[in-house]
Amino acid sequence: MPSLIYLDYAASTPLDPEVEAVMLPYLRAPGNPSSIHAAGRALRTAMEEARTTIAELLRADPGQIIFTSGGTEADNHALRGAVETQKLTHILYNPTEHHAVTHTVEALAREGKVQAHPIPIDRLGRIQLEALEELLKKYPRSLVAVMYANNEIGTLQPVEEIAALCQRWEALYLCDTVQVMGLGWVRVDQWPVDFVTASAHKFYGPKGVGFLYRRKPIRSLLTGGSQEREQRAGTENVAGIVGMAFALKKAYEQRTSYEAHLRQLKAYLLRRLQERFPQAILHGDTRPEGSHPGILNFRLPPSMADDMLVLHLDLVGVCVSGTSACASGSGHPSHVLQALGLSPEEAQRALRFSWGKYTEPHHLDTALQALQQALSLPT
Ligand code: PLP
Repeated sequence: MPSLIYLDYAASTPLDPEVEAVMLPYLRAPGNPSSIHAAGRALRTAMEEARTTIAELLRADPGQIIFTSGGTEADNHALRGAVETQKLTHILYNPTEHHAVTHTVEALAREGKVQAHPIPIDRLGRIQLEALEELLKKYPRSLVAVMYANNEIGTLQPVEEIAALCQRWEALYLCDTVQVMGLGWVRVDQWPVDFVTASAHKFYGPKGVGFLYRRKPIRSLLTGGSQEREQRAGTENVAGIVGMAFALKKAYEQRTSYEAHLRQLKAYLLRRLQERFPQAILHGDTRPEGSHPGILNFRLPPSMADDMLVLHLDLVGVCVSGTSACASGSGHPSHVLQALGLSPEEAQRALRFSWGKYTEPHHLDTALQALQQALSLPT
């Protein structure tokens, strides 16, 4: 099989071989971290060390970190836990959140537990702070859900201002930080956030493990055993947790060079895209200061492209996304792009390139060349 050009890091990053090596002994080890014998205690010790590592990186207390099966569970847990524990009746949410948030908010509204209010956004997908404040005046003590970086278009939100507004109006703030955790940007002592969510497979850790930071205890999403201080029933994924903590520590240690690498690639891709496809229309905020350094989303005009481009690129070994991994395959045009004002037909033509630490400029060139070939343009 020819080697793949992988440009879908926002969907999932490859596992770092060093992380894999750290995990292996724990995959093989016998025992359950809740057992009191030596085998169980060894796993519990490793797990608690991982919790402390993550807490120190985020400047949180270890007891504020709850291990989950990933970002989706962490978002569900924060939303449902906050609503039930704090008896909240209104959720103000960013309409371009990941479905882990929007579908949970919609479900809570359908169940009659909350009223859900979308927060107005601008053309680039940024929350309108004045509109948020108006909503907060009307519905103080709400739960506010606004992510740090959008997974489809990369737009960053003014999270510190949002957190300050939430504090002023006694609202709780859930910030989905899944896409930025690996950039080493998250420190919960710097902005008054109540919930932060993360997923290891977005920062070169394994799939199927993540965590929720919560300032104050909330109800468990699952019923069962008393693991995670009775806040998340179920035997923990010890190997995944150990790998996640190692991956996050590495990410924080290398954050400056990693961010610089991503930024260089973004500037390069933007330049090459505009040279080869001057007709390309960019989606979301693409300014270096306003967007994720590893994500770019764009579309080509209907005269050039159809909605099958992702498949054409796949056939020649180039992996990119048309929408988020979770929505692709559903056949639905992206809710994020439609929230920016794109028609369903325009949204179907979008391409998301996302890159990471193993990406080099020539990978981007090869992908753009493949795009030209797919469109029968001279390369
Ligand atoms: N939130 C955001 C912003 C994401 O990008 C993703 C995954 O793409 C998730 C939540 C869900 O994370 P997981 O795949 O670990 O369930």
